[in-house]
Amino acid sequence: MRIYGKKRALKALTDFSQSGRMPHALLLYGPRGIGKHTLADYAAMMYMCEKHGDSPCMECNECRRTESHIHPDVLYPLRDMSDNGKYNVDGLRQFIADCYIKPNDGDVRVCVFEKLDEMLPQHQNTLLKFIEEPLDFNRYIFIAEKKSPILQTVLSRVTALEVDGAGESEFTAALAEKDIPADRAAELYERFAGNIGAAAAFAENGEELGYVTAALKAADAIASRNETACLTAMLSLKSREELFEALGILSDIFAAAAGKRGGRAVSGAYRTQAEKTARSLPLRMISRLYDESVRLYGKSYANPNLRLFAGECCGAFFDVIYG
Ligand SMILES: [Zn+2]
Repeated sequence: MRIYGKKRALKALTDFSQSGRMPHALLLYGPRGIGKHTLADYAAMMYMCEKHGDSPCMECNECRRTESHIHPDVLYPLRDMSDNGKYNVDGLRQFIADCYIKPNDGDVRVCVFEKLDEMLPQHQNTLLKFIEEPLDFNRYIFIAEKKSPILQTVLSRVTALEVDGAGESEFTAALAEKDIPADRAAELYERFAGNIGAAAAFAENGEELGYVTAALKAADAIASRNETACLTAMLSLKSREELFEALGILSDIFAAAAGKRGGRAVSGAYRTQAEKTARSLPLRMISRLYDESVRLYGKSYANPNLRLFAGECCGAFFDVIYG
């Protein structure tokens, strides 16, 4: 396993380990493609490794079985849910009951909960009792794109680490492994900043991810105060999942634009749109756009009517612009 980027998150993990304070519950969060699952594998190896060093040896039986996802004590409950890719109460309860039994092979069991931000609040509550009174032999790794849909009560019981992207040289090296040449990688770096997975998916599929295009067009339209263009962009989204992703990108853009207005340099993905937003709109407005995007993001998974909700999103953004 070779890990590109994620320097801040890796350093935090190493620091925990060195000081003997590796948390029982970790939350790894960041955008799609940034490498959360790779880092989760790495963290799971830290818990499991036979050598108990500050970083996993990646060679022992425990590390190798963890990396290959065949370790009987490193569990991915979402993959076993009956409800195709979604958590359900019965599946969660069964999983939790099984975790009260001691691990199969060693002293420790690692439960990797993917897509925590897509878990409904009632399911998060089911989980809460489980992580509130941790058993000595259980460790938890949660994975999410955003923190905002996660209940505060759950957040207060986990150690959250933002998974950061790669610097340009590591980004280029990672894409070279996927046979993407350096000049192309340089273009992609500008576009996707350190997000290797998103850039590779874009380069390999040969087409733009629809929701990225839509989100960038919507951000442009908001910065140019063009409500019709914003609505056109939002209506081009084809599913609830796409709308969810697009709102996530918009909230990232507004957060970066607010930072820029506050004097911070804009790094990361979507720099062009963030800078344009910062140039075009006052900070007060950008902050409210951010709040609205987070609120709508939280709502987007429950909302059944795509077109109505796309319209509601635009309406909310332009209420901020005109209000
Ligand atoms: Zn090892």
